[in-house]
Amino acid sequence: MRHRPLVPKPGSAEHSGPPPHPKPTLLPSCNGALTLGSMIVQVLGCSGSIAAGCRTTSFLLDDDVLVDAGTGVGDMPLDALARVDHILLSHSHLDHVLSIGLLADSVMRERNVATRGPIQVHALPETLAALRTHIFNGVIWPDFTRLPSAEQPMLALVPIAVGDVLEIGGKRIEVLGAVHTVPAVGYAVDAGSAGWWVYTGDTGPNPALWARLASMRVAHLVIETAFRDDERQLARISRHLCPAALGHELQQLAGSIDVHITHIKPGERATVMAEIAQLGSPHKIRALEIGDVMRLERGLEFARA
Ligand SMILES: [Zn+2]
Ligand SMILES: [Zn+2]
Repeated sequence: MRHRPLVPKPGSAEHSGPPPHPKPTLLPSCNGALTLGSMIVQVLGCSGSIAAGCRTTSFLLDDDVLVDAGTGVGDMPLDALARVDHILLSHSHLDHVLSIGLLADSVMRERNVATRGPIQVHALPETLAALRTHIFNGVIWPDFTRLPSAEQPMLALVPIAVGDVLEIGGKRIEVLGAVHTVPAVGYAVDAGSAGWWVYTGDTGPNPALWARLASMRVAHLVIETAFRDDERQLARISRHLCPAALGHELQQLAGSIDVHITHIKPGERATVMAEIAQLGSPHKIRALEIGDVMRLERGLEFARA
């Protein structure tokens, strides 16, 4: 299901107009409260690399949680950037973490005035260690876990583990395993009666994922296909999927699910999607685009503590 985006597509007429004000429809739940509304997932970036019109991986959940922080984050208006309280990272690769430091720099003044506290960056311990060592080291970028002051920093690094169920921004989010060249995860976000929004992260073949999804009602699956079939050897050694490998993976997913392909390299989209069309999969498969919005209608639910 696609809706009008909260953040305009880059280069659109809306982009230069007044900044939009996303209206979160998810009411905060408390013990035994009724929760009404929907969860909105907006695609900020879904490309395997950069080129005009291509942005690397980032999804905005409602208006306060980013899943990965690729170059797509740079298209958000400043006031929307300042509302981001959480970043969930899939792994340490540059195309997924590149905007964290720039985001921290951009929103520092506004968040300090509003005393919003640090942005929580949730990731595997190995991913957080990589950020400390290779990005927030004072050489590539200042250490925003100690700036503007050690007492009130802009970023807080929060370790997670596969299997954890996080309560973030009023959402229940499970950490899924991924199989990549560095420690990596995916995420499943619980939208109650609407089902789960699932993001695989960067991954090669991943039997544990399908075992876990077998007991979830998946509403949307965002899965990578980084390479075309004639680059299958490259896909194999870099722990990514090509269309043939995707077909094998999707055979392990029951039903007919909305499947969204992400992380295609710039210029490869037509070829990759033509190869995917040849799979004859029972799932509803389409290529993700910048500005796509997935709305998961939750309806009336009884939220338990
Ligand atoms: Zn990667
Ligand atoms: Zn990637």
